[in-house]
Amino acid sequence: MKTATTYIHAGSEPDPSTGAIMTPIYQTSTYVQEAPGVNQGFEYARSQNPTRKALEEAYAQIEHGKFGLAFGSGVAATDAVMKLLAPGDEVIAANDMYGGTYRLFSKVYEKFGIQFTYVDTTDAANIQKAISAKTKLIWIETPTNPLMNITDIAAVSAIAKAAGCLLCVDNTFASPYLQNPLDLGADIVMHSATKYLGGHSDVIQGALMMNNAELREQLYFIQKSCGAVPGPMDCFLVLRGIKTLHLRMERHCENGRKVAQWLRNHPKVGRVYWCGFEDHPNHAIAKKQMRDFGGMLSFELKDDSMDAAKKVLSSTKLFSLAESLGGVESLINHPASMTHASIPREKRIANGLSDTLIRLSVGVEDADDLIADLEQALAS
Ligand SMILES: *Cc1c(COP(=O)(O)O)cnc(C)c1O
Repeated sequence: MKTATTYIHAGSEPDPSTGAIMTPIYQTSTYVQEAPGVNQGFEYARSQNPTRKALEEAYAQIEHGKFGLAFGSGVAATDAVMKLLAPGDEVIAANDMYGGTYRLFSKVYEKFGIQFTYVDTTDAANIQKAISAKTKLIWIETPTNPLMNITDIAAVSAIAKAAGCLLCVDNTFASPYLQNPLDLGADIVMHSATKYLGGHSDVIQGALMMNNAELREQLYFIQKSCGAVPGPMDCFLVLRGIKTLHLRMERHCENGRKVAQWLRNHPKVGRVYWCGFEDHPNHAIAKKQMRDFGGMLSFELKDDSMDAAKKVLSSTKLFSLAESLGGVESLINHPASMTHASIPREKRIANGLSDTLIRLSVGVEDADDLIADLEQALAS
């Protein structure tokens, strides 16, 4: 099946009890059993819920995987992957990734005896060098948040396979529409469904997708044992969001391209970080593994003072100043004080994330209006 058809139909079967075309929100905690142990496959809603089941089927299909699992947030999905590990295990992670992932690793899992090595994953050789006999997991994000660095997923998959460890790819920024890491050899794909999958800034949710049945069993066991499951209403919202993912992504890409090119030619704007530029350092890999370049980009002003950045951040009218991304409406963000405040300043600067970097999540409004909004903000 082609992508557009999959997004509309994945996981959606007419409801067996009424024929409802949309999977109902099964707002229930438990299911009545005919006799002890005799049931219709549903016992208790932490373990099984029909709305969640439909979504998990959709999750599997949109990432070209066999299995999908839904979690109460993106971070909860990451947390479930970490619970596959045991004290003494080592993880190699990207030095440029979502602040909350770094916080979970450094502030929660380090104290349980998991060791993390952070490397620049844009050069896969750095991962190879960091591998030890204790390495159990490689965690990458591509494109990265907020610097739009690209890691070669197929190259890292080959390293992970040779080392006998798992590769998990945070695919939130690209969305399944632009990139499918399982096809490139990754073991697990993680999404913050809060972003492009939900797409309407009205839900917090996370997802894991995989092909290996044993891995699915382990992660399902963690899902039900630790209990970070999303409610049925949230599952319904993401299921509905997925139906328009391709339409939204087409416009996100088109608007992202227009805004990136416009910013690059603006006299007040310094560097623009967008992986669609041919002179982006990882453009060739982005072109190889992504279908297009998305609606996320960052930029710096030529005047690199905090005052100048703050002026732009507080002057846009269509771009709302907020954390998060991937919704239909455009957002502007200041990573240093907002999404990435949990990363120590020295570490942040060393990784190239300056105090004055501005990140945009370009929405699906009319591109001319978005550009006019940026124009007046830059003129302020
Ligand atoms: C938002 C985000 C997360 C965390 O997801 P939540 O749904 O907020 O818990 C993880 N990775 C990336 C790239 C994100 O943007």
